[in-house]
Amino acid sequence: MSTYTRIAAFVDLNAIEENLEAVKSCLSWETKVMAVIKTDAYGHGAAAIARHVEKKEYLWGFATATLEEAVELHEAGIKKPVLILGCVYPEDMKELTGILEQNSGPSGACFSQIRPAVYNLETAKELSREAERQSALLGKRIVIPVHIKLDTGMSRIGFGDTRESIEQIQEIRRLPNLSLEGIFTHFARADERDKASAVSQLDRFRRFVEECGRDDIHFSMCHCSNSAGIMELQEAHFDMVRAGIILYGIYPSDEVRRETIALKPAMELKSRIVYVKEIGPETEVSYGGTYRADSVRRIATIPVGYGDGYPRSLSNKGYVLVCGKKAPIRGRVCMDQMMVDITEIPEAELGMEVTLFGRDGDAILPLETLCELSGRFPYEFICDINKRVPRIYRS
Ligand SMILES: *Cc1c(COP(=O)(O)O)cnc(C)c1O
Repeated sequence: MSTYTRIAAFVDLNAIEENLEAVKSCLSWETKVMAVIKTDAYGHGAAAIARHVEKKEYLWGFATATLEEAVELHEAGIKKPVLILGCVYPEDMKELTGILEQNSGPSGACFSQIRPAVYNLETAKELSREAERQSALLGKRIVIPVHIKLDTGMSRIGFGDTRESIEQIQEIRRLPNLSLEGIFTHFARADERDKASAVSQLDRFRRFVEECGRDDIHFSMCHCSNSAGIMELQEAHFDMVRAGIILYGIYPSDEVRRETIALKPAMELKSRIVYVKEIGPETEVSYGGTYRADSVRRIATIPVGYGDGYPRSLSNKGYVLVCGKKAPIRGRVCMDQMMVDITEIPEAELGMEVTLFGRDGDAILPLETLCELSGRFPYEFICDINKRVPRIYRS
């Protein structure tokens, strides 16, 4: 890290690859993996990660939340399929149907690289119509593979597991420019110790897929497991699993059995001391004077704040590592700066590296510790490290 680097998120691509291999080792040989890289790969950088792992034979493709994220992958040269987990808007359908797989399939049809999740009939019809329009313009048949989203208990998006939904899926199957490729559902509570809710969702999913089968509706990719399901619900793996948070070396919750899978955190957040001073007793630090020194203290200023996504709720609660030792945050975290106490670390000096989370020599400050101290959720914490923070890749 250069002497002048204000802040950097170091991302270890090999750690992500190792975590992906660890995921695969939990699965049977025929089960594929979809790497969930929404929200810029949980803040780690979607394009870089997709490029690093794309060639893995067991990796089916990627999942994003939005069309923009899927387009970004396409523009980065990613060729494997991308499933959009969230909503696709009518005005986006033209763009979606224009991104076609290079080696398109038999019978001269061109398949779209991007697969939307489909959870209502109207969107499916609109998509098929748009693909038909584009086909006419291009003079070749465009087919959009879709994944049916089934709601089995999350109550977010998805067809209900009802007879009516099966009839609608029949209609979708007959649309000329769509093909039913997958069906999936999402667990609301797989990360809890008690798996009763997840198992009930799994049963509903299985029963619905079976009923589709009786109606001669078949899907080549059935999937429902998120990270917690991958770790603890073997019977939910089906054709594919959707690996999100575990790819980044973070456990989905503290109720999962960590011994099932060894993960390596992929991101470290580092900065440097930019100012050192001594303050006398009674001196207040930062906005609101929420910290008042009770003796002479040595205070270091770090050029990082909530403007980088570092939580303000760590004011007077969090700490950083300097020379492998804990330096507690004093006073409020500002937008762009914060102060830490280095009285107990006499060797700490201006310009020295500071670890906001990650490893510093033998000392480790886990992201999870900061989550506990700040009352924030690990997924949220890592996604919030924002674009003002440069990502530096190591592999
Ligand atoms: C985000 C998401 C995932 C990944 O979840 P993790 O807990 O991060 O593994 C999987 N499926 C869906 C539908 C999602 O929205």
